Amino acid sequence: AQVDTLDIVVLVLLLLGSVAYFTKGTYWGVPKDPYATSALNGSAAKKGSRNILEKMDESGKNCVIFYGSQTGTAEDYASRLAKEGSARFGLKTMTADLEDYDYENLDQVPEDKIVFFVMATYGEGEPTDNAVEFWEFMNQDPPSFSENSEEKPLGNLKYVAFGLGNNTYEHYNSMVRNLDKILTKLGGKRIGTAGEGDDGAGTMEEDFLGWKEPMWAALAQEMGLEEREAVYEPVFSVEEREDLDPETDTVYLGEPNKNHLENSQKGPYNAHNPFIAPVAESKELFTVKDRNCLHCEIDVSGSGISYTTGDHIAVWPTNAGMEVDRLIKTFGLEEKRHRVISMKGIDPTAKVPFPTPTTYDAAIRYHMEICAPVSRQFLGTLSAFAPNEEAKKEMAKLGSDADYFKDKISSQMLNVSQAVSAVHPDPWSAVPFSCLVEGLNKLQPRYYSISSSSLVQPEKISITAVVESVRIPGAGHVVKGVTTNYLLALKQKQNGDPDPSPHGLTYAITGPRNKYDGIHVPVHVRHSNFKLPSNPSKPIIMVGPGTGVAPFRGFVAERAAQAAKGDDVGQTVLFYGCRRQAEDWLYKSEWDEYKKVLGDKLTIYNAFSREGPNKVYVQHLLKQNGKSINELLQQKANFYVCGDAAHMAREVNDVLGQIIASERGVDEKKAEQVVKSMRSSGVYQEDVW
Ligand code: FAD
Repeated sequence: AQVDTLDIVVLVLLLLGSVAYFTKGTYWGVPKDPYATSALNGSAAKKGSRNILEKMDESGKNCVIFYGSQTGTAEDYASRLAKEGSARFGLKTMTADLEDYDYENLDQVPEDKIVFFVMATYGEGEPTDNAVEFWEFMNQDPPSFSENSEEKPLGNLKYVAFGLGNNTYEHYNSMVRNLDKILTKLGGKRIGTAGEGDDGAGTMEEDFLGWKEPMWAALAQEMGLEEREAVYEPVFSVEEREDLDPETDTVYLGEPNKNHLENSQKGPYNAHNPFIAPVAESKELFTVKDRNCLHCEIDVSGSGISYTTGDHIAVWPTNAGMEVDRLIKTFGLEEKRHRVISMKGIDPTAKVPFPTPTTYDAAIRYHMEICAPVSRQFLGTLSAFAPNEEAKKEMAKLGSDADYFKDKISSQMLNVSQAVSAVHPDPWSAVPFSCLVEGLNKLQPRYYSISSSSLVQPEKISITAVVESVRIPGAGHVVKGVTTNYLLALKQKQNGDPDPSPHGLTYAITGPRNKYDGIHVPVHVRHSNFKLPSNPSKPIIMVGPGTGVAPFRGFVAERAAQAAKGDDVGQTVLFYGCRRQAEDWLYKSEWDEYKKVLGDKLTIYNAFSREGPNKVYVQHLLKQNGKSINELLQQKANFYVCGDAAHMAREVNDVLGQIIASERGVDEKKAEQVVKSMRSSGVYQEDVW
């Protein structure tokens, strides 16, 4: 038979495809590490080191702590376990990002080594982005381990497991629960209990602290470890660079990676590499003075960033100047804030969480989560560096007494600087900078449900964000959300608002070396499964009070555009709620415009909770309209919920069960089953936080 050019092309493509598949991307060279070449200390991202056992042997480790982390908390817990294992028990520990290794040789882990898994559950019981491949591997039946084909291939594996979850989600902590089941089934031996931290109940930190003590005791017994008095040992060396000044062009002043430093940002843009995007427009959506809700249009044209309606955009924030100053003052860094420092992991497996050389100021301003609630364990660690004996004692008490800590620190929502200076107002200059870098999380980008339609505006992404501002009764201070107040400051500046520093907060708005000047903000897009049906004629029901309406603005705009070009658009029903129509009704006038195009295809039910004698919420309106909701569901409508996970989303779930029970004449159990199967088949979709 003749082989023509097309056949050859197809064959070559198939061959390339297979190479790509079997090498898992090793050869197409997208750097896994954010600031490759310049600041990479661990060599995990180097080619050929995806073998964890080899890596452990090379670096003399007997304990690896893998993390599946989305927002940085699991990663932080992994680092803390690594430090503690080393300081208290002399374990040779390392942390490892799940996406940096392969797992075929998990069956070869020798008995004298221990493997920890710190696993966050994301969304609907899903793995975090960095755990996806690991999870696929473990869910093969059975996983394809390299050598051991016995029934219990993990017979030698000793492991420790902790999960981070949120009980307001249906699949609470499903990652750690399922992983534990799989590992046990394959013969692995768990040490201690499989811990579960609950963000929903606000007890994550205490759950973690409570779980780890008995776990350490069990591990010490299992491995014959002797506990010793933990002495602080820095993870990173910090070298002050006399040879460099902040103007030197190799010094990072907040640039997220090397390309940005060299003024040549390039894609792909992702969680390691933001795009510095112009803010095309920003405005206030509320009409009241004491609360703010922002609408921002982010211009991604020319970046190669694409999105589809329902995706999320992440904003990389900058800390408020006041908080940067507070931390610098608290830890006695005022004199040296602009000195250039280089940091390295003292152990080769430790990765510095930001690129260096940099300055103290830039590291704190752009890379460290300095405003978050301080952890009890960290206060205990800091006690060693207290300015006097009394402060030391107080810190040790705060670190060890959960009730005392709650009373003095967490009930007041103090961040690290506030907590430490409340114990003693003088500068805590003895605290090593490494200790702060270890003890505080890496500053995380925050996600927003995109409120525009990609069909209508593919190159402009809109955000609808309520500005976080929590007044603590009796504490005399207001906790200000990091990202939303930064966005508010950008908006004020862009619009030339009379109060350029809202609530007394100022920001380095023009960014490192003025690279964000002209109102730019670093962003990336995360694709989600929260999607309109591909067939526009399918009916949809959307429940989105408050900023939960964000993605539905995109959905409705998309359907209006489809209707305008003559598509047959199905029933589009929105349940929206806010306090008062004159105050916080988001996009009030836009809905009328969509209505003009969609006509009776669009129905909006509004719950104004503070207008009548009784509070009315979307759940109530759903119930009142149970009959038509059930009819739409029977016409194959998709059902969407967005917004508050803690209360609203859960109640909507229950109300839907009640509607199904009463409309279809089935008992509650059966109705619950129906709702569950709607969820698993993708008919019921949630985008909640
Ligand atoms: P943060 O600084 O992160 O603070 C948030 C909260 O943490 C504070 O309000 C306070 O309760 C607590 N906190 C902070 N500091 C302390 C302290 N020292 N002590 C105790 N508690 C403290 N939000 C929207 O407005 N619109 C959206 O469309 C939207 N979509 C989202 C989609 C997804 C998938 C997710 C995960 C979240 C979404 N969010 C959305 C929430 C958003 O990501 C942010 O969490 C929110 O804007 C707050 O960010 P922030 O940096 O301003 O506040």
